[in-house]
Amino acid sequence: MHILVTGGAGYIGSHTVLELLQAKHEVVVLDNLSNSSALSLERVEQITDRQALFLEGDIRDRALLDRIFSAHEIDAVVHFAGLKAVGESVQQPLMYYDNNVSGSITLCQAMAAAGVFRLVFSSSATVYGDPDTMPIAETCPTGQPTNPYGRSKLMIENILRDLAAADPRWSIALLRYFNPAGAHPSGLIGESPHGQPNNLIPYISQVAIGRLQQLSVYGDDYPTRDGTGVRDYIHVVDLAQGHLAALDAIVRVPGIHTWNLGTGTGYTVLEMIAAFEQASGRPVPYAIAPRRAGDIAECWSDPGKAHRELGWRAVLGLHDMMTDAWRWQSQNPQGYEDEPAN
Ligand code: NAD
Ligand code: UDP
Repeated sequence: MHILVTGGAGYIGSHTVLELLQAKHEVVVLDNLSNSSALSLERVEQITDRQALFLEGDIRDRALLDRIFSAHEIDAVVHFAGLKAVGESVQQPLMYYDNNVSGSITLCQAMAAAGVFRLVFSSSATVYGDPDTMPIAETCPTGQPTNPYGRSKLMIENILRDLAAADPRWSIALLRYFNPAGAHPSGLIGESPHGQPNNLIPYISQVAIGRLQQLSVYGDDYPTRDGTGVRDYIHVVDLAQGHLAALDAIVRVPGIHTWNLGTGTGYTVLEMIAAFEQASGRPVPYAIAPRRAGDIAECWSDPGKAHRELGWRAVLGLHDMMTDAWRWQSQNPQGYEDEPAN
């Protein structure tokens, strides 16, 4: 198939472009590089010996989207483009709603005008809010996300549901990611956040490499086995492969589908630190800090629906995530900033 990947230069996007190219799809990437580097795609080419067509631009640019859809026979869109920093979304809500919600609306308008109705959307477990029971299945009602980022994801899900209800030509996958982690085993692509990382694994990696002094563990008084927060970390390569399975499924079965992409296993922050130290052989100094506003105690998936309906499940474990995260970090101490883009 010919696939348009928005946000394809980013962390999850670049890993998915790699899998799409290896599966012999033709790929066009649209990314404004607001949180990424085009080097990620050069590295993908190095690994796969195949090339995605990279277009630098914004999903809110309707004229550009129209030109892309008329120049390429696109069969489906995998839509990663968006802003994702929770704290920043609290400071700058309009920027988040404009990028994420307006951007998705413009994309869908351009798709419909071009007669392209297959869409895979990057949603998040954050749409469940703070559920009462674990694990979280797709039947669990969506809750009250605690920040504008989370609300933007839930808004887009609702817009896409309305769209699918209004027009049966749409075939949409809402993929609710749990916590993506790790990197491609080549060590050539990985997560390279601009500025100070917000997420646990890139923070731990940058402490281990010496870019940051110590990790703050946000809270050790949660009702969990060691008091720190529990999350369902999923290897980014497993996650990327989940997108290919979802693409196959929406070709076979039109309509709107929701799938959790997680492993079904939760780990605490302290367990993550210990696993990283073991994989890297480096100490990760940390200090207990107050809880981070908006965090929940625990969150892990019931991944059964994706397994039943997509034939997909995560196969890589915590050790793979940590080994691959460390290989990426140690080979690229400054991420993609180590090397100037051509
Ligand atoms: P990322 O920031 O690495 O990738 C997003 C990409 O989109 C970046 O390359 C960025 O430059 C691009 N982009 C942003 N706004 C754009 C715009 N208006 N037009 C064109 N390109 C634009 O983030 P990621 O971790 O790869 O996340 C990908 C998607 O998955 C996002 O939608 C994110 O919200 C979602 N998600 C991520 C996580 C996570 O923890 N990483 C969890 C759940 C959901
Ligand atoms: N966390 C932490 N210190 C950090 C970043 C994260 O203790 O510097 C904890 C956070 O409180 C949560 C877990 O690590 O329990 C995962 O947080 P992350 O931001 O990676 O993902 P989230 O689940 O919030 O999307």
